[in-house]
Amino acid sequence: MPIIQIIHKTSLSLTKYYVKVNRGDYEFPDFSDYCPICSSANCARFHGYYYRPVVTKEGIYYKDFPIRRYKCRNKGNKRLKQVTFSLLPHELLPYVKYSVEFIFKILFDIYVHDMSEKSALDIISQFCDEDILCISPITVYNFKYLVLKGMNNLCISGFPDEIKKIINTPDIFKRLRLFVLYLYSINHIRSPSDYGYNFYINQGGYKTNSPFLLGTPSQFRN
Ligand SMILES: [Zn+2]
Repeated sequence: MPIIQIIHKTSLSLTKYYVKVNRGDYEFPDFSDYCPICSSANCARFHGYYYRPVVTKEGIYYKDFPIRRYKCRNKGNKRLKQVTFSLLPHELLPYVKYSVEFIFKILFDIYVHDMSEKSALDIISQFCDEDILCISPITVYNFKYLVLKGMNNLCISGFPDEIKKIINTPDIFKRLRLFVLYLYSINHIRSPSDYGYNFYINQGGYKTNSPFLLGTPSQFRN
């Protein structure tokens, strides 16, 4: 039985979030007004944590990053299969240990700074433990694929006119370059992970079980 993943927006860096959650002084939503699974009030209850690996923007590796879980007590009586849901901080991706900002930092070096993949990876290895992070050309290929798939998600769900031209750019290298530049050039949005969160909210967020811009949450996997 899969856990439904929902995105949780936090203003903290992943490191601060990690520390605060482990100290027990992070204030989480209680979902008392609306259960993301059965839509009922006073239904969802805290249900512990699970732990997963995470690589932050700074290249810090946590093997036990806490992900908060809740249980739906089926007050809405919908006979749903899922009974638990988890809160994924908006800088994280389902089933990928590298954070959104870490991924885009590498892509920015490759597509905007015109670095070779090797040089971009060399930079990464200077400030973090390469053996733990396991970054290879295949990993970079997966990052590109993730972002191209995200651009497809934008196409499917309707997107701002200003990026129509970017998405329709036939050359993949140029398309990625323009998209990465675009994400960093929007004034009111701080970063690619904020853009992903806005996409999620614009699609309705957890109330409509919205897809994620980047990555596929458990409820959409077979
Ligand atoms: Zn419920």
